Amino acid sequence: MPELPEVETVANGVHARVHGQRIVGVWTSNKPQTFKSAPDEIVETLTGSRIDRVHRVGKTIVVDLMRKKQPAQFLVHLGMTGRLLVSAPETPVPHHTHAILSLSGGQELRFVDARRFGRLSVVKSATDEQRYAGPGAEPLTIGLEDFVALFRGRKTPIKAALLNQSLLHGVGNIYADEALFHAGIRSTRHAGRLTRAELTRLRAALVKVLTAAIKLGGSSVSDYVDANGVAGFFQLHHHVYSRTGEPCRVCGTPIKRIVLAGRGTHYCPTCQH
Ligand SMILES: [Zn+2]
Repeated sequence: MPELPEVETVANGVHARVHGQRIVGVWTSNKPQTFKSAPDEIVETLTGSRIDRVHRVGKTIVVDLMRKKQPAQFLVHLGMTGRLLVSAPETPVPHHTHAILSLSGGQELRFVDARRFGRLSVVKSATDEQRYAGPGAEPLTIGLEDFVALFRGRKTPIKAALLNQSLLHGVGNIYADEALFHAGIRSTRHAGRLTRAELTRLRAALVKVLTAAIKLGGSSVSDYVDANGVAGFFQLHHHVYSRTGEPCRVCGTPIKRIVLAGRGTHYCPTCQH
């Protein structure tokens, strides 16, 4: 599943290729699972709108639109296997294409999703109060006091709290494991019992691993490709994720794996306390 860095990489790639263009036509597959807004509503909102900006909020790609001088938004959630491709119209349309936006520049923005966990929706009137803000706080910009307050009194393991999208949105399994390693914190610790110093380290570690992954173009998830269809390449740099039994890159202790909150959880028993 794409995580925050992959989604940001796709959003930035799409932004660079389509911002400023007008949507001149829309086709949808009408597969019911894919459309969180009615397809007719999506077609009506998008057709004739200008794409001002494509960016990321949590794990959602947000397309800011201007429609008859009114702001609107097109929201793309990639789910497990969703891809957003900018293609020439003559490029064969892949199987499992659910939406095609024809753009004034001559290219098409296509949403392709084999497993159909992805979701498309629109915010018809994106005024300040109605703009999409996501379920939780943004891990790259949250301040220290707000970050510390998120975990106060929580009895769940810190790993589970990091995956709770209503607290912080966009952090998934890979970067939760990696951030806890860099902060030296065991994944099973109760979130509410972490010290201020530990939470300070954790916030810094999250920013560090997410920013590094964004710089490298997102992680290597098998179905992940950027807006040009180029596969990501970050997996080599993981310290603990998916390295069960391999030596810790810092101390050489074999990396352990447990299941926590239903997810494979990787840690160094020596470096993380
Ligand atoms: Zn270690």
